Amino acid sequence: MSKAILLVDDEVAILRALQRVLTRAGYRVSMAESGIAGLAMLAHQPVSLVISDFRMPGMNGSEFLAQVKALYPQTLGVILSGYADREALLASLNSGAAWKFLEKPWEDAQLLKDIEGAMVERERRQAESQRTNLLLSSDEPLLELSSSGVVTRFNHAAAKVLSMPPSELRAKALSDIFIDINPIELATFFHKKDHDICLKSQSGNLISLSHRLSDIYHYLLKLTFIDSLSTDVFERVNDLLDQNTLLGRIEDLISVRNGPFAIVVLTIANFQNFVDTLSESAMDEMIMQIGQILNQQLTAKALLAYVAADRFVVVLPTIKHESAVQQHIGQLVQPFSQQLVIGTEKLQLAFTVGYALAPHDGDSAKQLLQNAVTACHHNEINPKAFYLRYDRGIVELKRQQFEISNSLYAAVEEQQLQLYFQPKIYLQNGYCQSAEALLRWHHPKMGWISPALFIPIAERDGQIQVIGQWVLEQSFAQLKKWQQQGLGLQRLAINLSGRQLQDPQLPTLVQQLLKKHQLDADSIELEITETFLMADIEQSSLLLGQLKQLGLHLSMDDFGTGYSSLAYLAKLPVDVLKLDRSLLIDLEDSPQSASMVRHMIRMAHELNMLVVAEGIESKGQVAILRDMQCDLIQGYVFSRPLTEADFFTYVSSNTSQHQLEQLADD
Ligand code: C2E
Ligand code: MG
Ligand code: MG
Repeated sequence: MSKAILLVDDEVAILRALQRVLTRAGYRVSMAESGIAGLAMLAHQPVSLVISDFRMPGMNGSEFLAQVKALYPQTLGVILSGYADREALLASLNSGAAWKFLEKPWEDAQLLKDIEGAMVERERRQAESQRTNLLLSSDEPLLELSSSGVVTRFNHAAAKVLSMPPSELRAKALSDIFIDINPIELATFFHKKDHDICLKSQSGNLISLSHRLSDIYHYLLKLTFIDSLSTDVFERVNDLLDQNTLLGRIEDLISVRNGPFAIVVLTIANFQNFVDTLSESAMDEMIMQIGQILNQQLTAKALLAYVAADRFVVVLPTIKHESAVQQHIGQLVQPFSQQLVIGTEKLQLAFTVGYALAPHDGDSAKQLLQNAVTACHHNEINPKAFYLRYDRGIVELKRQQFEISNSLYAAVEEQQLQLYFQPKIYLQNGYCQSAEALLRWHHPKMGWISPALFIPIAERDGQIQVIGQWVLEQSFAQLKKWQQQGLGLQRLAINLSGRQLQDPQLPTLVQQLLKKHQLDADSIELEITETFLMADIEQSSLLLGQLKQLGLHLSMDDFGTGYSSLAYLAKLPVDVLKLDRSLLIDLEDSPQSASMVRHMIRMAHELNMLVVAEGIESKGQVAILRDMQCDLIQGYVFSRPLTEADFFTYVSSNTSQHQLEQLADD
């Protein structure tokens, strides 16, 4: 089978031409004139590689390869097409259904080279899959995640380390398994395969994760249970070093040590409060006590230095792995959960911590220290949650965030914001009676910026209030306008950020807007994310109660990304459940995921909620969701978010009904 190829194209002449080239090169070639015929052939005769045209009547190449991938995961799919239908092609590349896109007309030599490359890739994947199987059957605790971060496989040892029954691990996201995860740290871990990450399991144990066999298609992670650190490796030091001495000692370490060591920077986050209130001698006393306490934690050849008014540095000269550094830091700051007593004052200290690992994170003592300080600066926003390692990517990200934050202030005033509208389609009849308003920002220099990127920044830096109000005002006005134009739109859904919901004035503001635009409360739906609602369930149900009383519709957005269970839903006055895209993405491939979604839909219906499936891109997903009696679909399969004018045309020409009919016919 290793040299077997299936060609699929609706043009016989092309099939023949390809067949000639490939047979001559020693491949065994079979041919089909449509995706359906191709699938029928594969059922009898598995192949290593499928080369498919993109534009074909019936099933297009992308849909065909998606099916091939679902049925024969070992078979590699390649699209050979002359059409520049880039978005669809990109989507099939991104979904992993197609491995590569080759262009028509082809040049024989190049084509053969590409196909050879595909064969090598397929071999590699097969070998890797065998290695994964082999590894999973070992005693090493291993967890396999799909590229979207969902647990696909694991072994007994992993379930044991996590103290979770296997039935609870299946199809879970990391956020279901671990608590207090920092998203930036996690993103770095997945991006940089040489980083470890230390996470806390639901049962409170620290578990270190490292990459065992990861590529862009899946992650095979090794889990290590972290015991308390042994204390006898280090011997105590009593002296507080100054910066220059410290730098010299780090240089010494660089010259003698091959193994990694860590430079940890601890900044007193609330230093200014003390400067403002304490006498000079009390400040001195405070610094001295901090030094002593840190010193007591250092059972080491570790170094301790005081390098700036609010900054201590600890150097941990022998570390086995990165998780050990994080655990050390935890021990260092732990005593400060208790107040310091200085004379008659009791002080509660908070630290921001960043670190760098030598030799990886810098070539010289100066560079290492500077990078640890940089990491520390970047961690200031999130002082307690975790300790940030220096990373160039993070520096870049922060710079971008800084620029975004700065220019967000002007965005509203300079009319750089715009709303797009994405249709929500009733699966029963294909009607589009509601839509979600989605914010778009065109930055004068950076171009289009995703709300997923700038909303969290606006929330953090305070611009969200102004932006949120603009969105509300704009959405209400738009809905009114459409109603006046006779567009049969029942309801418009608006996203609210968690910060907006903390504003006690929100119900009043909404009420004023309803009055101003003469809209029924029933025509407005507010989308609130699961994570916010679940953060404080008592407070949330109070506020939602107020909004509900006005007559608004409420929906829980992104359900499935956080920690909530369906049981909590019953406590909240929510009308609509929006299942997040990540839950639905492998609906067609994974029976576990399908069964979970079916269960969620049933439960939601029992709670009298409508269910919206978000991010639906394929006909296959639609068919499955229809079978599960999901109420509404929102996703590219019907439409991307549209401008005001395009949305008007989409709804007034009943496009969605035609689309649904066509889906049913296919
Ligand atoms: P969301 O509320 O869950 O919105 C759905 C997101 O999924 C939108 O991304 C939408 O464009 C995208 N999407 C829809 N169908 C598909 C599909 O078939 N495939 C894929 N891959 N994606 C699909 P968008 O517009 O980038 O918005 C991202 C998030 O930003 C939103 O997630 C929402 O949480 C937030 N957001 C957007 N507009 C606002 C706003 O006005 N206010 C607030 N507070 N947040 C907003
Ligand atoms: Mg939403
Ligand atoms: Mg959503």
